[in-house]
Amino acid sequence: MKQFQYVKPATQQAVLDAVSKPGTKIIAGGTNLVDLMKRGVTAPDKLVDINLLPLKNIGITKNGLRIGALALNSVVSEHSFVTQNQPLLAMALKAGASPQLRNMATVGGNMMQRTRCGYFYDTTMPCNKRVPGTGCGAMEGVNRMHAIFGASSQCIAVHPSDMCVALAALDATVIIAGKKGERHIPFTAFHRLPGEHPELDNTLAKDELILGVEIPDNNFAKNSYYLKIRDRQSYAFALVSVAAALEIDNGLIKDARLAMGGVAHKPWRLFDAEKSLVGKPATEESFAQAAQLAMQGAKGYGNNSFKLKLAPATITEALKHAAGLV
Ligand code: SF4
Repeated sequence: MKQFQYVKPATQQAVLDAVSKPGTKIIAGGTNLVDLMKRGVTAPDKLVDINLLPLKNIGITKNGLRIGALALNSVVSEHSFVTQNQPLLAMALKAGASPQLRNMATVGGNMMQRTRCGYFYDTTMPCNKRVPGTGCGAMEGVNRMHAIFGASSQCIAVHPSDMCVALAALDATVIIAGKKGERHIPFTAFHRLPGEHPELDNTLAKDELILGVEIPDNNFAKNSYYLKIRDRQSYAFALVSVAAALEIDNGLIKDARLAMGGVAHKPWRLFDAEKSLVGKPATEESFAQAAQLAMQGAKGYGNNSFKLKLAPATITEALKHAAGLV
């Protein structure tokens, strides 16, 4: 591993000053970054440890639930307000990684984690995300875990997070600090599709810092479900996952939120499928129709073409669980 400097500033301003210099990277839990450094995928000159910043809080604000960027995945998933009022988030967090990793991983780090595409981690292979312009090993290679939505000719990687799928579904907002002050963006605008620049995973500028996320109040607590389909029951990334949240009144759907993981370069929100559910009876038939609508534009790349069937089945099943039909 390349030698690097390590600093641990005590103030937000000092962090922002440090990260504005080239060659620096922020570290919090380090559960992904340290792996990337060991493998030579990334080689920063300086690590800026942000663990002295007061960003661990989980609290209620006028905008809803605010979770600091340094709140641990395990702590958020077991927080009583989260389990009672935002159970979709708790379920998604518990579906991610392993207990040991959840005890180290932070909310901000979860958002910033990088794809688990094998070609990205193997520095002997071509990868446009790791080294732009070198090609995409996965496009015609081993791509079982890869995207079926929103891919480009440059990259077909997926974002690996479960937590982010729930936050996208729940209309969360990301709070970001930069030299010019704070900005708030919808969670769905934080991560990006690969397009011509697969090296960019998200819209965070190099000299910015995630302060936390806010989730608005909702009426989904009773009818939420996170369904993750994976090769083994723990410590595996999603082949397909679905965050489903419904508001049901007298058997009719008043409101719906749906997002998928394991299928795109970002959490994949299913806006059209959500709209199609409103006013419909909460039945398997309605859910299967929404699932078919959600698949418009999907494309397989060989090894991952099984997802074209798995994804709608997972959407339908997640909605059935959310509605209490199973
Ligand atoms: Fe690299 Fe993306 Fe291709 Fe994987 S899918 S090899 S991350 S460019």
